[in-house]
Amino acid sequence: MPAHATFEAVIGLEVHAQLLTRSKIFCGCSTAFGAPPNSQTCPVCLGMPGVLPALNRRAVEFAIKTALALGCEIAERCRFARKHYFYPDMPKNYQISQYELPLARRGTIELPLNGRTQRVRIHRVHLEEDVGKLLHAGTFQTADVSFVDFNRSGVPLMEIVSEPDIRTPEEAAEYLRHLRAILVYLEVCDGNMEEGSLRCDANVSVRPSGTEELGVKAEIKNMNSFKHVQKALAFELDRQVRVLEQGGRIVQETRLWDADQELTFPMRSKEYAHDYRYFPEPDLVPLNIPKAWIDEVRVTMPELPEERRARFVQAYGIPDYDAAVLTASKPLANYYEEVVKAFPEPKTASNWVMVELLGQLNKEGREITDSPIAPNELAALLTLLKRGTISGKIAKAVFEEMYRTGKPAATIVQEQGLTQISDQDELVRMIEQVLAQHPVPVADYRKGKMQSFTFLVGALMKASRGKANPKLLNELLRARLEKEATGGGG
Ligand SMILES: [Zn+2]
Repeated sequence: MPAHATFEAVIGLEVHAQLLTRSKIFCGCSTAFGAPPNSQTCPVCLGMPGVLPALNRRAVEFAIKTALALGCEIAERCRFARKHYFYPDMPKNYQISQYELPLARRGTIELPLNGRTQRVRIHRVHLEEDVGKLLHAGTFQTADVSFVDFNRSGVPLMEIVSEPDIRTPEEAAEYLRHLRAILVYLEVCDGNMEEGSLRCDANVSVRPSGTEELGVKAEIKNMNSFKHVQKALAFELDRQVRVLEQGGRIVQETRLWDADQELTFPMRSKEYAHDYRYFPEPDLVPLNIPKAWIDEVRVTMPELPEERRARFVQAYGIPDYDAAVLTASKPLANYYEEVVKAFPEPKTASNWVMVELLGQLNKEGREITDSPIAPNELAALLTLLKRGTISGKIAKAVFEEMYRTGKPAATIVQEQGLTQISDQDELVRMIEQVLAQHPVPVADYRKGKMQSFTFLVGALMKASRGKANPKLLNELLRARLEKEATGGGG
């Protein structure tokens, strides 16, 4: 895009992650997703006057865990604040959040991008409560009535704010993927963007290339998948460049991404911090996080994506590329390790998981957790292949059948009579038959036309319905043709 040649994008992301605690952040109500509307509420999360919030210790631990994984400095003492605004999904008209004293600051995420490492600094990590959810009867524009569900009100949210270190929509998507993997590995968030347990807003501006001063930014909301983040940012950057090139100016505002029309449109002019009239939450004491507590959390830290990737290369001897793909999600890495446990040939296992299984799943937009083939079933198929019971070609066909029907490999092989033909006499009989049927290629081969050999192998594989042991078949055919050549070469 030549239009971007003289402009540089400046992107910062704000990610909201719902924490996987069983109860809400300031009351004992359940956080389970999908319950009937307003069935998981109490006076605290409904914002009744006179109630008192009590902080969920587990939510704090999850935030500490995340802060440690991101290499942040954790505040010894932080504080909650009231953020005021008026919206029907928040009955007390303020949200309990953190403002001037967040739980953690100054971390980093290192993104491996085309062979180089892009460092994105983390500005802050803080805790807050989620708000309720509005359901409109019809579309937002045409609805006569709206309903409100407070089940989500008070679910613990962790906000992770990056510095504006991201330069392209692709980097933004990569940052998000990386951050999501970390949160899922830590088991602090399920990372489900469609259900809204992971949400992303972006601050976007452009500036002339080579300058330092930041341009006026727009905040983009409502992007609920990696694909949409990338598309929305590309659209918005393009829009801002066009405005500037036509001599216009960018206004600071919040814009919504419309996934159907693939464009961003203005929602409201951006509030500034003072619009929220922040002040310290008087009903909660400041939160002290002694070093002993951090150390306690530190010993529970699981293996993180980067560490697991390095271990895969080391322990299994697979290429770094394979290790990166396989460790990108925790369930996928677990799946792979289970296959290898039952079939200890790591590179073969990696090929089948990455190419065949992920190929199928991606085609259907499904996750590894939806795989119709269990890891030990895939290992059983690879064992049949390794033992020579079935050929490589048949193995792929059996794989597809397993994927479609969920049946074990051995059952499919038995039911369909797919066992590889490795019986020498049977193969020789087949060769005689096929050679008799194709005198021309045989004669051509004798004259030195090597492609005829490939043709004859093809004809034989077809005659055996793909079941002939290819290695043995090759050997026998070559021997037979050599004999023929010598015998007839008078
Ligand atoms: Zn409650």
